[in-house]
Amino acid sequence: MARTVRERPRQADPCTLVVFGASGDLTQRLLMPALYHLAAAKLLPDGFAVIGVARSPMSDAQFRAHVSDGLNKFTGVAPAAATRAWLLQRLSYVAGDFDDAATFERLAAVLQRRQRTTHGSTLFYMATPPTVFAPLAERLGKAGFAQPARGAWSRLVVEKPFGTDLESARALNKRILAVFAEEQVYRIDHFLGKETVQNILALRFANNLFESLWNRDRIDHVQITVAETVDVGRRGRFYDATGALRDMVPNHLFQLLSLIAMEPPARFAANAVRAEKTKVLQAMHAYNHATAFACGVRGQYRAGKIDGKTVAAYRRAPDVARSSTTETYVALKLLIDTWRWAGVPFYLRTGKALKARRTEIAIKFKEAPFAIFRGTPVERLAQNFVVIGIAPEEDISIQFNAKVPGPQLRLHGVGMEFRYKDYFAAAPENGYETLIYDCMIGDQTLFQHADDVEAAWRVVQPFLDCWRRDRANGLDFYGAGSDGPRAADMLLARDHRHWRPIAAEDQP
Ligand code: NDP
Repeated sequence: MARTVRERPRQADPCTLVVFGASGDLTQRLLMPALYHLAAAKLLPDGFAVIGVARSPMSDAQFRAHVSDGLNKFTGVAPAAATRAWLLQRLSYVAGDFDDAATFERLAAVLQRRQRTTHGSTLFYMATPPTVFAPLAERLGKAGFAQPARGAWSRLVVEKPFGTDLESARALNKRILAVFAEEQVYRIDHFLGKETVQNILALRFANNLFESLWNRDRIDHVQITVAETVDVGRRGRFYDATGALRDMVPNHLFQLLSLIAMEPPARFAANAVRAEKTKVLQAMHAYNHATAFACGVRGQYRAGKIDGKTVAAYRRAPDVARSSTTETYVALKLLIDTWRWAGVPFYLRTGKALKARRTEIAIKFKEAPFAIFRGTPVERLAQNFVVIGIAPEEDISIQFNAKVPGPQLRLHGVGMEFRYKDYFAAAPENGYETLIYDCMIGDQTLFQHADDVEAAWRVVQPFLDCWRRDRANGLDFYGAGSDGPRAADMLLARDHRHWRPIAAEDQP
C-alpha cells in the first residue's frame, strides 16, 4: 500500500471527474492542486476531464481562472506552464443548485460531450457540505448516473464528516447504498492519504523487529496525539455544532488507532486490509454512561498566548455561543478486547489552541525487570518508546537505555531517529493525490467501508450521550498555548502514567 515500497504506479484510467462544490474551499485549496501534482507526475491519462458543479454563476473561462489562481497559491511549487495548460483545458463548469433537476440535465449534456474522450467512466466527488451528501446521491441515482455504460464505471466519493452520530451515519449509509453499491463508494478520510500513515503498515508488517513485540505481553500502553495550535478561527458555526470529538476522533484518530492495532491482513488488498481495520473497532470495549464519563475528558480553551500571540477564549470566537459547552479538546482512554490487546490502554487526545502542533503515535513498552541493577548506582530505567511522528515532522524514533561511559554502571535514556526526509525526497503533495488516484484505479484500500464508519460511531456514541445529558458538568478549561486541561493529565495519572509532552523541546 505505501507508495515508497510500491512500483511506480501506472497511469489512471480514462474518466471524467465531476466535482460537486467546485467553487468551494476544498476544491480550490486541495483537490485542484492535487490534480496538478498528478498531472505533473504524468499519472493522469489523456482521456481525462473535470466538470465542476456549484451554485456560483461562472463560465468555463471563469472557472479555469479561479482554479488557475488556486494553483498559484496552493500547489507549493511554481506551476509549470505546460502542466497547468494541460489541466485547465480539461475543465468545464456547470452552474446550478443540487435541488434543481435542470442542473443534472445540463450536467448530463456536458458529460456526454466529455465522455467521447473519457470512455464513459465517471467519478462523482461530493466536495459539498455534509447535509447535501444523501440528497445529492439520490439525485445522481434518479438521473441514472449510478449505472455506468457497459465497460465503464461510476464511483462516488464522499467527503468527511460521515454522519454526526451512530444513527445519522447509519441513515446516510442506507440512503447512499440504496443508490450506489459499496464497491462504488469511496468515503474519504484524508489522513489516510499521508505517506507516514500508510507507512505504519510497512513498519509493522515488513519488520519482524517490531511486529513480534506488538502485543500486550510487551506493550504497556499507546498514546495517540493530534495537537493543533490553530484556534477555531472563522469556523465557529460549523465547529460549535460539532466539537473536537466528532470532528477528529471517529475518523482521523480511529484510522491511526486501527492501523496500529489491526491484525496482519492475509493480502495487501482493499477488502483484506479494511476488514482487519473494522475488526479492531468492533472489538473495542463498549462503555456505558458511567464508564464513558470516567474514561473521557473534554476541555475548552480560554484566552492565552501561542507563539507569543494572544488568542481569545473559544467563547469569544465569531459564531460561537458565549455560553458554549462545546469541547475544543478531548482525551479518551479506550480498550480493545482482543487476545493481542486486552488490558493495554489506548489513550487518545486531540485539541485546538495547544502549545505545539504535533501528530504522533507513541508506543510505550513495559519496563525491564530491575533486579539486575539492584546495588548499582542505577536508580530507575528510562522508558522504552517507539514514536511515530506524522506531523509536522515525519519520523520514527526509538528510545532506550544505554550505559554512560565510565567505571560505574550508570544508565541514560537515549534515542535513535529515522526521518523520512533524510532518505526519501519529499514531493510537494497534500495527501489528496493518492486518494484521487486510487479512486481512479478502483483501489478502495485507503477508504472507509460502511461497517468501519458505523463501528467507529458505535465506540464514541456513549461519550456523546453522557456529555449531551450533562453538558456543563465535566467540561474542563485550559489556557490557549498550554498542553491541555488538567483533567486529561489526571486520566493517565490515575493509571500511574503520564502523557508525553506535546512540544518537541519538552520531550525527553
Ligand atoms: P465550502 O463551503 O467552501 O464549499 C461548499 C461548496 O458546495 C460550494 O462550492 C457551494 O457552492 C457548494 N454547494 C453547497 N450547497 C449547494 C447546493 N445546494 N447546490 C449547489 N452547490 C452547493 O466547503 P468546503 O470546500 O470547505 O468543504 C466541502 C466538504 O469538504 C465538506 O464536507 C467538508 O467537511 C469537507 N472537507 C473540507 C476541508 C477543507 O479544508 N475545506 C478539509 C476536509 C474535508 P456555492 O458556494 O457556489 O453556492
